[in-house]
Amino acid sequence: MPKNKFDKAAFQAALDRRWQHLGLQNAQEMTPFQWWDAVSAAVNELIPWQPATGRQDRKNPRHVNYLSMEFLIGRLTGNNLINLGWFDPVKKILDGYGINLGDLLEQEVDPALGNGGLGRLAACYMDSMATVGQDAIGYGLNYQYGLFRQRFASGEQFETPDDWHRESYPWFRHNPSLTVQVGLGGRLEKNEQGEVNWEPAFTLNGEAWDLPVVGYENGITLPLRLWQATHPHPFDLLLFNDGKFLKAEQAGIDAAKLTKVLYPNDNHLEGKQLRLMQQYFQCACSVADILRRHHLAGRSIHSLPDYEVIQLNDTHPTIAIPEMLRILLDEHQLSWQEAWHITSRTFAYTNHTLMPEALERWDEKLVRTLLPRHYAIIQQIDREFKKLVQAHWPDDEEVWSKVAVRYDKQIRMANLCVVCGFAVNGVAALHSDLVKTDLFPEYFALWPQKFHNVTNGITPRRWLKQCNPALAKLIDDAIGKGWVTRLEKLKELEPYAEQADFCAQYQQIKHDNKQKLAAKIKQLTDITVNPEALFDVQIKRLHEYKRQHLNLLHILSLYRQLRSDPSLDIVPRVVLFGAKAAPGYALAKNIIYAINQLAEKINNDPKINDRLKVVFLPDYRVSVAEWMIPAADLSEQISTAGKEASGTGNMKLALNGALTIGTLDGANVEIAEQVGEDHIFIFGNTVPQVKTLLASGYKPAQLLKKDKNLKALLTELGSGLYSNKHKHAFDPLLQSLQQGGDPYLVLADFAAYCEAQQRVDALFRRPEEWTHSAVLNTARVGFFSSDRSVRDYQQRIWQAKR
Ligand SMILES: *Cc1c(COP(=O)(O)O)cnc(C)c1O
Repeated sequence: MPKNKFDKAAFQAALDRRWQHLGLQNAQEMTPFQWWDAVSAAVNELIPWQPATGRQDRKNPRHVNYLSMEFLIGRLTGNNLINLGWFDPVKKILDGYGINLGDLLEQEVDPALGNGGLGRLAACYMDSMATVGQDAIGYGLNYQYGLFRQRFASGEQFETPDDWHRESYPWFRHNPSLTVQVGLGGRLEKNEQGEVNWEPAFTLNGEAWDLPVVGYENGITLPLRLWQATHPHPFDLLLFNDGKFLKAEQAGIDAAKLTKVLYPNDNHLEGKQLRLMQQYFQCACSVADILRRHHLAGRSIHSLPDYEVIQLNDTHPTIAIPEMLRILLDEHQLSWQEAWHITSRTFAYTNHTLMPEALERWDEKLVRTLLPRHYAIIQQIDREFKKLVQAHWPDDEEVWSKVAVRYDKQIRMANLCVVCGFAVNGVAALHSDLVKTDLFPEYFALWPQKFHNVTNGITPRRWLKQCNPALAKLIDDAIGKGWVTRLEKLKELEPYAEQADFCAQYQQIKHDNKQKLAAKIKQLTDITVNPEALFDVQIKRLHEYKRQHLNLLHILSLYRQLRSDPSLDIVPRVVLFGAKAAPGYALAKNIIYAINQLAEKINNDPKINDRLKVVFLPDYRVSVAEWMIPAADLSEQISTAGKEASGTGNMKLALNGALTIGTLDGANVEIAEQVGEDHIFIFGNTVPQVKTLLASGYKPAQLLKKDKNLKALLTELGSGLYSNKHKHAFDPLLQSLQQGGDPYLVLADFAAYCEAQQRVDALFRRPEEWTHSAVLNTARVGFFSSDRSVRDYQQRIWQAKR
């Protein structure tokens, strides 16, 4: 594949058209934002979009359709320039105008079309599919409002809508010829032949808004196709002429509601009708588009699984399965066996969680009302499947209660995926094992060959080359540039961990990154932090299972030690947080409040001085992650063992030379294997220990009776000292740890966590050894490239021999 040639004259002409279009006299009249918009639009014009069809290679004949309700893509302009190989030439042209490209890139608003790890994974996989040359389309929704913006007032989280300006977003390409129609509601009617006919109550338009996903210097661009809902007849002239001016527009307004907002929950189901409508809308548009392309290529419907695979990113797009069956049955008039044969070889499902509260279940009534035909199809799937279960476990109601697709008047989307799909994968080795042994043991007994592991990965383009250019250059100079697409080459850095000169440069880069972050922190929060201190970083969605409150208790414990011994010589620390709490998740918000209040007290205590600082950066998002990760010394990955399916923040931080303090959970297990136990701080109860503890009737009260120090911490939190004398300010947090039974074992892991933090301090006092470990982390985490994950998907699932 040829590289993308940069055509300077064409770029210049495209740029000129932008300011002319704005009615300006020259480029200099543009505002900084208009500069960003103009440069992005000019580049977008010049990208040679490879059409998705006609590029199938013999080794990878199946085209991938990656269905996800979320794509947390982050800013595009810098990333696209890097992947195109156009960063330097564009920078040079802008220098000629006196415009700094780096400043210009800071103008971009993050498209926050996702919540956290799941959406970011979809974005990394798109980047990697484009880079390894896997033909693919990403299918998602074009939310008008992305994940809310977060700000703090008196320590509390407040949310504001994130209208990220899609009207003027320069990376979109809208192709009206791809618009599809989607029906909803209505009822089933039988015709004279006895065939069922679905008569939807209303119809919506799905418009395709494409974003370019540029492969790394390989000439490939894949579409990320985001559907937007509109009404086919948004304006009713009859009503208008009748004098009903406001009503005349009502239909258009109602239709557009569907893709207005992203649901702000991470790892938690909200069983709302609008959410199910969003899911169906996304699936119906995507399945129609997949079949359109298949027919356009002149292929028989029976060959669909030979050419197309549909990867479901969690159960959110599960309704695509009955939608596919519906089209094959009702529109192609295939028999159930034929339709099933095609569908069950086309879909593959990625599981992202074992937690019951996050597993999607939809009320049958809701599904029947909204999608009567799909409901009937799901009933038939369940009936057919029951025959198989009956043969294996005759009259075993207990087994059926677990494996049924429909049960207790609910439809279980994960079960539907396993029954109808040809592959199921977890997202890290430990998690994939738990999927087989704990979540789906019966399915595993029926179909062991369906179950796979694909350990998550991250794209080295954004998460090293783009966010940490100084480190990327140091690596280039040491081992060449091949690591950008072959991250396992970082292994060649290992000998450099022994070279004092290299380590000094590595350390200097970390120090510079910390200084830059310190300036950013000053600008955003007015807090002064010392770049010489240990930067201790926990960045991820706020969730009990991720245990930001365990970190909080450690901070409080340090603070009490410093107060009781003002001359105590501890390693100076800056504890940094970034996290959004779902607006309806009261306990998560209370944890944010508690951390902020504690920070306020500590940061303003003159006796503490520079030994301890706590900073909660507001509005955590991809661009904030890109500032924080290169500056981190310590990476907090402290979830309750068995709860974090994989994590990807852990990989980003290790790649950038932060040492991990973490539990044996998710991909931490594999990170520990790769970097070696001497270069990671592992602590806490393991999965079997967690199970034993919970099964034996874990009682936090008993633990608190023995651990006076821990008890004192909780007492102090409830004393009003950190909450302007309001003793009940942290009740939700304190009650969950005590009366609530501490379900995530925060107190049970506290002592081990503090002990691990002391090991951290001890190593940080020996900077040479610390840097040696940091270099080895960078050198040894090449396995966690999403390029490798995509190749695993190809080998094990997408292109596997069937
Ligand atoms: C990587 C990333 C995540 C996932 O972080 P985890 O620590 O794996 O939960 C969430 N949000 C953003 C913005 C990210 O970049």
